[in-house]
Amino acid sequence: MTKWNLEMVKKETVEFIRQCEKIYGREFDKNIKVEINSRLTSSFGYFKFQGKKSLEIDIAKRLIDSNLNELIIDTIGHEVVHYIMHELGYCNEKHGERFKELCRKLGIETISYGKWKNEVLIEQRNMLRKNIRENKKNEFYNKKNNARYILKCKYCDCAGFYKVARKDSMKKWVLRYSCCNKQHKDSLICYDIKENFKYEKVSNKLKRSKMTKEDKEICEKIVSKK
Ligand SMILES: [Zn+2]
Ligand SMILES: [Zn+2]
Repeated sequence: MTKWNLEMVKKETVEFIRQCEKIYGREFDKNIKVEINSRLTSSFGYFKFQGKKSLEIDIAKRLIDSNLNELIIDTIGHEVVHYIMHELGYCNEKHGERFKELCRKLGIETISYGKWKNEVLIEQRNMLRKNIRENKKNEFYNKKNNARYILKCKYCDCAGFYKVARKDSMKKWVLRYSCCNKQHKDSLICYDIKENFKYEKVSNKLKRSKMTKEDKEICEKIVSKK
């Protein structure tokens, strides 16, 4: 199977638009901008517009890289339906009845995730979701293993990892950020494991001190924990 690329996505988009032209007996702009978007992570596609103006159809890079044929085509079709609905002036209906009707006519799965009927699509979607989850996990461990700064709550396991910091970053993290557990107040400590300094909040000010042996052990434990 050939690998998907932008040219193919564009071709498929135009193909869907042509089908819509036949259905509605009118023309739609086939030069709508089409992009492969690497920032799309939780959704597979995205239709961008501004007021009445249709701007762009984005397809997630993760989806394109997966080369899951049926799912890619279905997603392109889905975004084209958003585009056509927008052009017809039904901008506010999202996945309403008219949307679903056009999807049916084009032979693509209608929205509402989890209610899909096409088994190939369901399997491909689950596979991709799993891949995305694993990628994110790997990215997290990468970040963790390369971190110079560890921001940690002194009461629980809540922690963040940073490779670089600006001059005032520690101040912002320690004084303004908080633990994901809202009951843990003023509990964040920032460890600079390269310079062996720790930053904490003491009477509303940022206090810097040398890391103790215990601090070092805490940091080692966090980084090695999988
Ligand atoms: Zn949608
Ligand atoms: Zn906490």
